[in-house]
Amino acid sequence: MDTAKRFYCDVAVCGGGPAGAAAAIAAGREGKSVILMELRESLGGLCTNGYITGIAGNVDGLAKEWVERLAAEGHAVVRPHLPVVEPEFGKMMLEEMVLQSGARILYGTHVVDCIKEDGKIKSVIAYCKSGKVEIFADAYIDCTGDADLIYAAGVPFEISSGEYCGLDQSVTMGFRLAYVNYKKFMEANKAFRKSKDFEYGNPKRSSLIVFKQFQAIAEGKLHELLSPGNIVYPMPGRDQECMDVTLDATHTFDCHNDDVVDLTRQIVDQHRKVVWFVDFLREYVPGFENCELEALAPMNGVRDSRYAKGEYFLRAEDLATARKFEDGIWQHSEPFDTHVPTPGFHCAIRHINTDKKLENSLVRPCQDEKDYMMHPFVRPLKWEARTDPRDWSEIPFRALICRGVDNLMVAGRCFSADFHAMGNIRIIGPSMGMGQAAGIGCSMYIDKKLNAIRELDGVLVRKRMIELGVGLDHAPTGYWETVRNFKGEPTVNAGDMIEIRNEKGETPGF
Ligand SMILES: Cc1cc2nc3c(=O)[nH]c(=O)nc-3n(C[C@H](O)[C@H](O)[C@H](O)COP(=O)(O)OP(=O)(O)OC[C@H]3O[C@@H](n4cnc5c(N)ncnc54)[C@H](O)[C@@H]3O)c2cc1C
Repeated sequence: MDTAKRFYCDVAVCGGGPAGAAAAIAAGREGKSVILMELRESLGGLCTNGYITGIAGNVDGLAKEWVERLAAEGHAVVRPHLPVVEPEFGKMMLEEMVLQSGARILYGTHVVDCIKEDGKIKSVIAYCKSGKVEIFADAYIDCTGDADLIYAAGVPFEISSGEYCGLDQSVTMGFRLAYVNYKKFMEANKAFRKSKDFEYGNPKRSSLIVFKQFQAIAEGKLHELLSPGNIVYPMPGRDQECMDVTLDATHTFDCHNDDVVDLTRQIVDQHRKVVWFVDFLREYVPGFENCELEALAPMNGVRDSRYAKGEYFLRAEDLATARKFEDGIWQHSEPFDTHVPTPGFHCAIRHINTDKKLENSLVRPCQDEKDYMMHPFVRPLKWEARTDPRDWSEIPFRALICRGVDNLMVAGRCFSADFHAMGNIRIIGPSMGMGQAAGIGCSMYIDKKLNAIRELDGVLVRKRMIELGVGLDHAPTGYWETVRNFKGEPTVNAGDMIEIRNEKGETPGF
């Protein structure tokens, strides 16, 4: 092969997002020589370069260490649920953790192909400033988010959803605003919830930003609802009355996330919508009067694309029924979060439809009219099933082992799961957990001199995760423990989200 340079290592990790960084750190700390290839020039993927700065899911293992190390330097807002990291320092902290583990980083390196021999990947081919380079390793982990290596290696995969005629989830580009009076915004939010404009259960009146958009539409200042949500992530350590925030708000629909022409359409569409949304915020939302668009995320907000087929294919039913696995390597308690691929009022689907009443999940009869709006191409089935926030499911190690190639693993938002399971698990906490487990798994595969990673007993990886302090041997703590112990009944709110509410209407909060 005519390559400018060759590199050799034990474990090659493709993609340096939350999953890839964690995979490289974990394998490096297990004593392996590691090369982490990242096509951009910093780590953290969508979390840092996509301005998705709030970490959802269980924050344990390397995810917890990352947040705590950032917090110790004043660059994270630690809170029980959805801690926030400052993206620029977040990138540098991941870089520090990767380098301290002994792993090597190759920035500006785009993995495009691989050479296979006897059922294994022999080398990956990447392009970078050096030209065409070849990286040889004993084991490989695809953390590209879009399963680029898996695609090149011929591993079977699915793309998008049959239910939505092959469309992916909607796409949302993050952005960063300066000069926001966050204190004023939070006070306005509180006042809104006490005002007559607020109405529990009415999606048009359940959040300040949404309510204000309908006002702007009525006044001819906005032609459509741009954001069905209200999430604003405050940047750590800043003056609350004049601070930076990040948002991911506007949606582009009918997306094909493996098509360069469509991806370009999405980016152009998002650029325009962000500008419209910022103009709206300035005029209508208290606290945003003086805000300035500081930056558009350098990475487009693609939620999903290719889904690898692994030794286990995680199904939405596994999550709805809080399924645990012997080789479970991460606990997961969040609701479904499938962003609707087609335009409509509802932003995300927080339930799945089933024809059987699923045991051990929160079920109610399908709410026909609303459900049909969310599933425009097929009539929904009989029941709606939701995850129970007081319970949790697990990700089995086998869902990270790629089928058909003996030395390839996957971690992050392209692991082996169906459309709604991915809509649920793809978030940053579990992505880092999967990365950590894949790094450990590859290391064990090498140490044990196995013929294929699928020969490795995932129970050993689970045990190693526990030894390293990941709380797989007990129920999730922190926020999830508070939710479990909160006295109240599960209620579906206006955003289709399940909440535990008490008689006074209180919830366990953020
Ligand atoms: C709009 C939006 C809102 C979200 N909100 C939240 C939230 O509030 N909380 C939460 O926890 N999660 C949220 N998520 C999900 C979360 O951000 C991602 O699912 C998570 O970052 C996945 O991590 P990853 O490492 O698998 O992939 P990514 O973060 O996509 O990282 C992949 C990395 O691989 C690199 N790469 C890609 N292809 C190649 C290649 N061929 N060669 C080399 N490098 C490559 C990329 O540059 C990138 O750095 C949101 C996602 C979106 C889009």
